[in-house]
Amino acid sequence: MRLQTKLTLFNTLSKLVIVVLFVLLLPRLIGNINLNYTDNRLRKQKDKVLQKIDSLGIEQYMPDGKPYGSYTLLKEEYVGLEESPPSYHLNTIENSERIVEGDTIQYRILSHTFAHDKKNYLLEVGKSVKTIGETSSPLQSIALEVLLGMIFFTVLLDFLYADYLLRPLGKIIKAKLLDKRFPAAGPYQRINTSTYDFKYLDESIHQMIQHIEATFQKEREFISNASHELMTPITILQNKIENLSGREDISDELQLKLVEMHKTLNRLKSITKTLLLISQIENEQFLKEDTISVSELLNDVSDEISIRLQDKNIRMNIEVTDDKTLHEVNRFLLFNLFFNLVNNAIKYNKEQGDIAIKAFREDGSYVIEVSDTGIGIPEEQVPFIFNRFKKFKRSAQQESFGLGLPIVKSIADFHKIGIEVSSELGAGSRFRLIFP
Ligand code: ADP
Repeated sequence: MRLQTKLTLFNTLSKLVIVVLFVLLLPRLIGNINLNYTDNRLRKQKDKVLQKIDSLGIEQYMPDGKPYGSYTLLKEEYVGLEESPPSYHLNTIENSERIVEGDTIQYRILSHTFAHDKKNYLLEVGKSVKTIGETSSPLQSIALEVLLGMIFFTVLLDFLYADYLLRPLGKIIKAKLLDKRFPAAGPYQRINTSTYDFKYLDESIHQMIQHIEATFQKEREFISNASHELMTPITILQNKIENLSGREDISDELQLKLVEMHKTLNRLKSITKTLLLISQIENEQFLKEDTISVSELLNDVSDEISIRLQDKNIRMNIEVTDDKTLHEVNRFLLFNLFFNLVNNAIKYNKEQGDIAIKAFREDGSYVIEVSDTGIGIPEEQVPFIFNRFKKFKRSAQQESFGLGLPIVKSIADFHKIGIEVSSELGAGSRFRLIFP
């Protein structure tokens, strides 16, 4: 799951937990607010009644000393006044029942005793409990709607902010890791971000890449220098052996040994040359200035390799459905690439086998396929066949250095050509080159 999705999900869940808690507490909260409001209102009403009694006199309410009672039309509120014993003192607000015109109604009642004209009176101001709770449920639903709206809004904001915040991370991964080609070319490009952690990550990756680059460079230089240095003594040795073979005063046995030594030196030379070639390709020491058509290139390879085909009795068919002119390529290297692929197709083929080379357009790309009816490559070995010096024990007859496919890969990378391999053991292999 993406980090942004995780953050948004966590935010949404934590906010939902708050909403649930709030919804559970809301009735209690609103009940308390309502009760406080009602009690305050009852106190104010009591003060007003006492003021009126002070200014107008108690006779205004109890002209002949009879208890006074006044109700609103729907019996939601009432005021009661009556004389009480002198020792009776009360100052409370509580819920209590009253029977009004035959109806038993639950009221919130403020009871207050006070002295007036040397008499003690009891004043009751009440409000029906039912009306107090009436506002609760509309208030609850409004609060819930507002809250849900706010949550939706903040979750959306969180999502957008997380997207904005994490954008540099995606850029770092794409620019510095996914799109990175090793060895990398070009200067360091800082990713624009104000977040310290991403800056730190960007710089750390840059340092790591610099380190890898330096190691790559050292390795390339070493291979290049080593192969270069080896070529001279090998050639001197070869010349000496050739001179020795030409002498007549040496025995047949020694002659045979000299021939074997020559062969071994030839192999050594071949390996050294190939290593030098790989390092030169990787050091970008080749130019890409040639123009050549696919059919011409494949025919050149076919001409060069035809003797080997005949040796093994193998048929090769070239089918260029749609010819293409390749621009800005290195002809020598591309020749080398196809030569190696066809050479392997011959080397690992069966007697009287077939090789098919097809060139065609597919889904906007240009594809050249080299397939053979040879021994095939076991599935588990396919990921390693492009590794240097990786050769698998197949047939003792094959001369093998494990450098053919690494060259193919280096040349393909140098020209930004993709390679796909599919193979079936005992049935054959297919190498697909996908041109950009
Ligand atoms: P080499 O052929 O000198 O051993 P390569 O780098 O050309 O080295 O090939 C590496 C390995 O891949 C070979 O040893 C062989 O096992 C396998 N391989 C390459 N091409 C083919 C092919 N066309 N058919 C079967 N196996 C192949």
